[in-house]
Amino acid sequence: MIITVDGPAGAGKGTISAHVAKTFKLAYFDTGMVYRAVGLQMVLSGYALEDKQKALELAENMTFPQMMALAKHKDFRSDIGSHAASVISAYPEVRAALLKMQRDFALNPVFADGTPADGVIYDGRDTGTVICPEADVKFFVTAPVEIRAQRRHKDYVVAGIDTTYETVLAEMKKRDERDQNRASAPLKPAPDAVMFDTSLDSEPNNLAKVVEIIKQKLNL
Ligand code: C5P
Repeated sequence: MIITVDGPAGAGKGTISAHVAKTFKLAYFDTGMVYRAVGLQMVLSGYALEDKQKALELAENMTFPQMMALAKHKDFRSDIGSHAASVISAYPEVRAALLKMQRDFALNPVFADGTPADGVIYDGRDTGTVICPEADVKFFVTAPVEIRAQRRHKDYVVAGIDTTYETVLAEMKKRDERDQNRASAPLKPAPDAVMFDTSLDSEPNNLAKVVEIIKQKLNL
């Protein structure tokens, strides 16, 4: 089983994907991590984010273990990591270099401990359109930008990351704009995606609805 969950930052993709992964025993690939890993490595190496050639070199050499190590860094999910990921993910060459590792995961999906899984759920921006157009069920998850920024700000406060709601909102609007308008794999729903606005109901109800949609679509 392959499921894709795409949408803008803070829409609820991570919460939905983690729940679906647990419910259907699927391996979970958060594809934003690959762009965050390359973006953060650019920052840590002291390279300018505008240096496409360096970003491409880092992308070509990025491995899963390296990505997992970078994920432990304090700035992996902060505004610094988010901004860096957003900038380097707009380079078509960088996206091309990171495509195979993302696609190949569905051929041999494994849980975090290395044991094999029956399928995979991808979370990202282009997973239903580019990474896995053959997915069994695709979701495009949305919510108004102010609500998404409130959620993300709350996450930051819980994680002890020092920022303001206004900063998060402004950065989120910029990321939306870059994601939607980049030339390569812009953020847009696959034609066969289920559109899902997470601001219309409570989290438990949304999660139950998503599970129901999957069961119905796959006759489970
Ligand atoms: O989902 P997350 O916020 O962790 O993604 C970080 C950044 O990586 C996004 O702002 C987006 O620009 C980029 N991204 C992407 N394609 C994906 C996943 C993430 O371009 N499939």
